[in-house]
Amino acid sequence: MFILRGQRKIRIKRYTETQQCCPNCKTFDLQVNVYKDYFHLFFIPFFPTGVKSSSMYCYHCSSFIRFDSLQHEYEKKTRIPFWLYSGLLLVGCLIVTIVVAANIDAKEERIFVQHPQAGDVYTIRDDKGGKLRYFFLKVNSIQGDSVFTLHSNLEYSRYISKPQSKDFFVEDEELVFTKAELLQMLDKGEISSVKR
Ligand SMILES: [Zn+2]
Repeated sequence: MFILRGQRKIRIKRYTETQQCCPNCKTFDLQVNVYKDYFHLFFIPFFPTGVKSSSMYCYHCSSFIRFDSLQHEYEKKTRIPFWLYSGLLLVGCLIVTIVVAANIDAKEERIFVQHPQAGDVYTIRDDKGGKLRYFFLKVNSIQGDSVFTLHSNLEYSRYISKPQSKDFFVEDEELVFTKAELLQMLDKGEISSVKR
C-alpha cells in the first residue's frame, strides 16, 4: 500500500515585535514567525519533530532580517500546539474505542451464556486432534440446568460470524451441556462468539 508520509514545517505562532527596530530602515515594524517541523501521515500531523525555527520580517522595508538572540527567545516561549499530535490522539482514541467495544461485547456474550435462550447461536472453535475447525451450535431448548443444542451440518476451517446459507442445524442430533460447561467453554475460547 502506498503510504504518504513525511516531514512538513508549519508556522505555529506569529508575533509583532515592538521593542526592536529594523537594522535596515530603523522603523519599528517587525514580525516574528515561529515554525515547527512535524511528522505527517496523509497530511495528518502525528507528532512534532526537531527544534523550533523562526524568521523575522520588516514590513516597512520588506526585508528578512536575522536577530538570533531575540528570535531564540521567541522560539523558546512558543508552545507547541497540541493539534500537532492529532494523528497520535486519533490512533489512541481508536484503540480505546476498540478495547471498550470488545469489552462490552465480551460482557454481553457472558450474560447470554449464563442465561441462554432458545435460538442463541454459538460459534464453536475446536482444535482437538491437531486440526482447527469451526462449527455452530444453536440452543434448541433449556430444561433446568441443561441446555439442549443442535450442531450445524457443516464444519469450517476458519472463523466465520454466521453459518453459510446452504448450512443447516441437524435436527436429530441434540448435544446437551450444563450452563456451567458452556461458561467454561466460553472462558477457554471454545465458544468464540455468541449471537442472539
Ligand atoms: Zn526595515
